[in-house]
Amino acid sequence: MTERTLPAGLHPDTLAVREAVERSQWGEHSEALYLTSSFVQPDAATAARRFANEEPGYTYSRTSNPTVSSFERRLAAMEGTEAAVATSTGMSAILLVAMTMLKAGDHIVASQSMFGSTIKLLGGEMARFGVSTSFVSQTDIGAWKAAMRPETRLLFAETPTNPLGDLCDIAALAELAHAHGALLAVDNSFASPVLQRPREFGADLIVHSGTKLLDGQGRAMAGAVCGPKALVEEKMGAFMRTAGLNVAPFNAWIMLKGMETLSLRVKAMSAGALEMAHWLEAHPKVARVHYAGLSTHAQHALAMRQQSGMGGGVLAFDVIGDTPEALRANAFAVIDSTRVCSITANLGDVKTTITHPASTSHGRLTEDQRQIAGIGQGLIRLSVGLEHLEDIKADLCRGLDNLS
Ligand SMILES: *Cc1c(COP(=O)(O)O)cnc(C)c1O
Repeated sequence: MTERTLPAGLHPDTLAVREAVERSQWGEHSEALYLTSSFVQPDAATAARRFANEEPGYTYSRTSNPTVSSFERRLAAMEGTEAAVATSTGMSAILLVAMTMLKAGDHIVASQSMFGSTIKLLGGEMARFGVSTSFVSQTDIGAWKAAMRPETRLLFAETPTNPLGDLCDIAALAELAHAHGALLAVDNSFASPVLQRPREFGADLIVHSGTKLLDGQGRAMAGAVCGPKALVEEKMGAFMRTAGLNVAPFNAWIMLKGMETLSLRVKAMSAGALEMAHWLEAHPKVARVHYAGLSTHAQHALAMRQQSGMGGGVLAFDVIGDTPEALRANAFAVIDSTRVCSITANLGDVKTTITHPASTSHGRLTEDQRQIAGIGQGLIRLSVGLEHLEDIKADLCRGLDNLS
């Protein structure tokens, strides 16, 4: 069906609902779901032209699919980039960046407190292909500078980080990368374009785990890379067609529906996390709260500037305890006493989730890597959802109040 073209200059909240709505001939109001592996061609000559990329048209869903391209166009519009490519998971989006932007002999500088699998992928798997990675403290721009080498091609940052909520200064890293002829990639899964649009601060590539906030309701996995057409469509598009890291059309459709409520959810969760952070700070059995939305946080000013004045929905706190064993036992006691929060590694969900990073998301790191990342045995991560906050406070008190 021929669509009216949207006017230019729409606000992100409008784009989240209206951008790239694909409709079939029937004019359904909701985005169409094209659940098909291949597309029938009108004749052999058209098929030949389409396979040769001489004429637009869908051929095979590993190459492209209308529902998937809706998701890509909507996310690119929200991030303010020229293009986006959707992938099966957040990790395959990061793999796509590494496989298309790097070759043997290249070097990456990355923050040391990233998502555990990202550290394993960039620091471990890529080494087998001759790509080396230096991990540095993400808050220390001097450390990033010192790690740069002539063969550095990529700076990779995740901000805010999981689970401590530390920030990278995107504008400073973009300047550093570009001065060395390197690219800056930013994992924006935690903030989402509602809080932070890394492109505005100079990032070249923006990576998403759509599994987290874009879906927001724990239903499906997906990922994406956003950036300029020359990198995303030409380099990554060609690789995708060969390598098949594609998202399923159904999952892309889930992402489209999730993005419609993204802004409302992220703002509500962020307000909830700020209230929980204040409340936890005042609790006698909590040793420390890590949340950039608190004015006492070392990077509060940067957080407000870079994240639209909000801290995001994820916070972490250390329970009291004298030894690593006591800390772990106390953290486990708090987690096991909850009856509302979900004990699960997902985050950015409408359901509040609670985890022990040292034994789950960061469990595959060595004790040394965990120490450097600041992930102690007493640390608990809370991703605040949309339940009533009084119920979440009561849920945490069940365990916290009895700690010694
Ligand atoms: C979960 C996550 C990933 C990986 O995404 P998947 O969809 O689980 O593959 C990458 N980066 C961050 C910041 C994440 O939280």
